Amino acid sequence: QYFSLGFIGLGAMGKPMVTNLVLAVEPGAQVYVHDIATSVVEDLVGAHSGTIVGCASAKEVAEKADIVLTMLPEGAHVKSVYLDPQSGIAAALSGSSSKLLIDSSTIDTASSLHVKAELGKIAPEVLFYDAPVSGGVLGAEKGTVAFFVGCSSSDPKFPLLKELLRAMGSKVIPCGGPSLGLAAKLSNNYLSGIITIACSEAMDMGMRAGIDAEVLASVFAAGTAQNTICDVFNPVPGVCPNAPPSKGYQGGFRVQLMRKDIGLAVDMARRVGSRNVLGATGLGVYAAASEASDCKNLDSRVVYRYLGGKED
Ligand code: NAD
Repeated sequence: QYFSLGFIGLGAMGKPMVTNLVLAVEPGAQVYVHDIATSVVEDLVGAHSGTIVGCASAKEVAEKADIVLTMLPEGAHVKSVYLDPQSGIAAALSGSSSKLLIDSSTIDTASSLHVKAELGKIAPEVLFYDAPVSGGVLGAEKGTVAFFVGCSSSDPKFPLLKELLRAMGSKVIPCGGPSLGLAAKLSNNYLSGIITIACSEAMDMGMRAGIDAEVLASVFAAGTAQNTICDVFNPVPGVCPNAPPSKGYQGGFRVQLMRKDIGLAVDMARRVGSRNVLGATGLGVYAAASEASDCKNLDSRVVYRYLGGKED
């Protein structure tokens, strides 16, 4: 059904996402991709020759594709990829363009709204949606991520968005309107980041009091403290054998990304007037762990190590 799709930003998340997208396109259809890292473009073109076509710029992707997805690191990258007058998506648009553009990056809501407004000035028919994801690299590989979409369930394009995003994820949740997918994602990551710190502290205190780590995790799972971080991504090495903490904190969700997301969430809380007592502490912990030589570039659950958690 999708004959001209584009995907820009082929990093830890984008590469597996576009790989799943390719499985959903009809034979003969093409997916136009771009990344400033040319080697990843070459890899994908080599692995899916005939279906994936490399492009030299975001502009070229938007010239060739009617539906374009982006998966970029931060707001500045998203602004540049969409709005750069020479090489950006905007450079491929004219007043009569009618494309569907979907940004799945986790960025600040203001940048997303800015991009939407600027695109609207150039091409009023162009539709731009925020649709950030949750579920990590493993979820992107398995096609089980959840998308939080910045539109209402009655948006006329929601059925198409849902069908398209279901090629890469298992849940697609409409969050109400423009930038609210991002507001949902930042609220989610704020909660998950803070729970990780609380789980680290609670595990450490129980273990130092003499309780076995796995017994303690099973207590939390049976009690009122039950949560996914403790059950599936327990920050204590060895408790969840397949999770990053049991693999030297390799893989997973980098501590720097959690620092970015908690920072964005704290800014959003301030902007909307929400009282936020744990944010400053959380941000401080993730910022310091992002710089610590034994934690940086590792999975965000490495805050357990940063906080001096007991490791055997
Ligand atoms: P990443 O750094 O691995 O990938 C980003 C890609 O964008 C890179 O390949 C980079 O070369 C490319 N890029 C940067 N600037 C570009 C430009 N101007 N033009 C074209 N390509 C450009 O990041 P990631 O882990 O894939 O994360 C992407 C987004 O998804 C971030 O906002 C992140 O917060 C969010 N996210 C990440 C995870 C995760 O577990 N990694 C989970 C959920 C959401």
